[in-house]
Amino acid sequence: MQRPHVLQIQKTCDQEFIKRVERESGQQVSKCYQCGNCGASCGYTFDFDFPVNQIMRLVQLGQKETVLGSRSIWLCANCQACTTRCPCNIEVARVMEALRIMSVAEGVVSKKNILLFYDEFLELVRRYGRVFETGLVARYNIKALKPFTDADLGPQVLMKGKLALKPHKIKGLKAIEEIFKRFESHRGK
Ligand code: SF4
Ligand code: SF4
Repeated sequence: MQRPHVLQIQKTCDQEFIKRVERESGQQVSKCYQCGNCGASCGYTFDFDFPVNQIMRLVQLGQKETVLGSRSIWLCANCQACTTRCPCNIEVARVMEALRIMSVAEGVVSKKNILLFYDEFLELVRRYGRVFETGLVARYNIKALKPFTDADLGPQVLMKGKLALKPHKIKGLKAIEEIFKRFESHRGK
């Protein structure tokens, strides 16, 4: 990811983007004063292209292209550590979530196959009420045209009983289906 040049920040500041992030996340991003707590609490910073506090700053500066094209928003595990530690009570994880949704809507998803992974994950949640890891890996690998990725790990993990061979359905599947339907009708509006 190419970092925005400091002298171009004013030129590339997208005010509408700032308003949209605040509206869609329900968070007042302008309250962030860059204490760095969120970045320090995040277990994934080592692999982010921008630590989460820098993502917040880039949003404040309206750097839409850089933010929506970053890999950080996709590597975020939604663990909420940032939200818990923010002294301004900003739900930082919700900001990251809003950015992912905007990135899909704008067609600028940075990492190849990431949407495929999300779609397969959600399809299994819809079908069984929870994720079925073995099925997820198999479906993802086949659709991503890399069927043998991590195949060497399969027997070890299965022998240790860490992965189930068959999916288990939860009881409240109807409620799960309702959530998906509600989301689909909301998206269609
Ligand atoms: S929710 Fe995302 S950004 Fe926040 S701490 Fe967890 S992984 Fe990091
Ligand atoms: S913890 Fe809150 S105030 Fe501190 S940098 Fe992160 S978002 Fe900003």
